[in-house]
Amino acid sequence: MNLERKDIRALSKEELQLFFLNNNDKAYRGQQVYEWLWTKGAHSFDDMTNLSKATRAMLEANFVINHIKVDTMQRSEDGTVKNAVRLHDGLVVESVLIPTETRTTACVSSQVGCSLDCNFCATARLKRMRNLEPAEIYDQVLAIDKESRLYYNHPLSNIVFMGMGEPLMNYNNVLKAIEMITSPEGLGMSPKRIMVSTSGIPKMIKKLADDEVKFKLAVSLHSAIDETRARIMPFSANFPLKELRESLEYWYRKTKSKVSYEYVVWKGINDDKASIDALVKFCKYVPCKVNLIEYNPIDDGEFQQASEEAIAAYIKGLQAIGVVVKVRRSRGKDIDAACGQLANKEA
Ligand code: SAH
Repeated sequence: MNLERKDIRALSKEELQLFFLNNNDKAYRGQQVYEWLWTKGAHSFDDMTNLSKATRAMLEANFVINHIKVDTMQRSEDGTVKNAVRLHDGLVVESVLIPTETRTTACVSSQVGCSLDCNFCATARLKRMRNLEPAEIYDQVLAIDKESRLYYNHPLSNIVFMGMGEPLMNYNNVLKAIEMITSPEGLGMSPKRIMVSTSGIPKMIKKLADDEVKFKLAVSLHSAIDETRARIMPFSANFPLKELRESLEYWYRKTKSKVSYEYVVWKGINDDKASIDALVKFCKYVPCKVNLIEYNPIDDGEFQQASEEAIAAYIKGLQAIGVVVKVRRSRGKDIDAACGQLANKEA
């Protein structure tokens, strides 16, 4: 076997067409193969039934299709589904299907593990092994779309990049995956239904704005006070809130798209008046929404969910300045599928 065979999905449509031209065939074969790979999600060259046997053998000799394999699928009592996804090199990531009354959302991973060090997140305890390829991200979405149709009788309606990893540290591949997800040759999904969540890397947020992306942006804020944020998300010491704020102002100026702040309120960490005032102030800079996420305990109790009163005080403060705020109850907790719980426990 030739170990050097390249993953065929690393090729663009033009490169595939060129490959056929260079092999004394027609460019439109490239188009056909491209459709098999992306629109139809073929897992093997033998599936490509409108190609001759010789053409399929030629592809087989030159390329591989590094598709993912759903190793285990767990279903929560609340309908949430978690897939442990095995990659071609044996590594594992997780993705989640979150159903509501009216829609289904896929929560996908962008890296194997994570290089950031958020103290409250289980994924942070896994070393970052590598970035996911565009096709590996795309395949997670396809797998969840299939499950959505199977269990909920409708296609997947939304995607959030809130699984394992920091999407903006795998920038090019995440953008390529989204390009395929939104392309008519891929899933044809509207970018408005896709949200990329970042822990807040100012330079890359500006790059998103410059690249005129059409999807939505979420920022895991958790505190609008530098010292507190650096304590719970140590890497953020390199990115002061002032820089983050400037990048978000830049984002909004260019895209006119509101930013969503993800925010967990913890006892003794950010449940005081100064923290609330700081968030309210921060929310005035850029048009935004706030999602108050319920904490999913992952450890010995260093972090604990704040009281209902503290949450209510946040809501009151934010609503007073007209910011839409939602409380997000966690889903899929019983199968470790909730925010911050993805840690390949089953792998
Ligand atoms: N690295 C990106 C993508 C991960 S999104 C980012 O940080 O945005 C995962 C979301 O879950 C983030 O908002 C993260 O802050 C939040 N989260 C992490 N651990 C959590 C936990 N234990 N309970 C609730 N939310 C958590």
